[in-house]
Amino acid sequence: MKALIVIDYTIDFVTGKLPCGDPGIAIEHRIAELTQQFIQQDELVVMAVDLHEENDPFHPETKLFPPHNIRDTEGRTLYGTLQHIFELNSDRIYWMDKTRYSAFCGTDLHLRLKARNINELHLVGVCTDICVLHTAVDAYNLGYNVVIHEDAVASFNAAGHDWALGHFRGSLGAQIVSNRE
Ligand code: ZN
Repeated sequence: MKALIVIDYTIDFVTGKLPCGDPGIAIEHRIAELTQQFIQQDELVVMAVDLHEENDPFHPETKLFPPHNIRDTEGRTLYGTLQHIFELNSDRIYWMDKTRYSAFCGTDLHLRLKARNINELHLVGVCTDICVLHTAVDAYNLGYNVVIHEDAVASFNAAGHDWALGHFRGSLGAQIVSNRE
């Protein structure tokens, strides 16, 4: 069984407070397409979405980044057509708050996946070299087969994006796939 994990594809991470910019905008259509495909195939879709409280002095990211993905702000809604798809299919999509880069850190994701006998994780979203990377590393350590959709991950950092793709392939044994070929 497989699942699609859509990582941090929110307004703040695409065009908002901590934006990927153009590379992030460019993957909108493919993320929407994959989300619809997984829903139609009756496979699990997870929105793993960064959550911060305003002026949280205890969060390690407070020192690293400007405030982003603050609870109950517009920046924390999904970007573009994905938000529309989510509203239409909210009963079919599992929305999961996360507070660290990895979707596994401090969440019940592993338990939910195990309960469904899911062993193959398809990762999409942003940023390739931060939250997608940390999620992929945890997935690898937990024994999942990891599939990265090259045309549905993006970063503000082109060199980081390329390095991460090499790391997924060479060190995590991930399958790198794309609809572009
Ligand atoms: Zn964050």
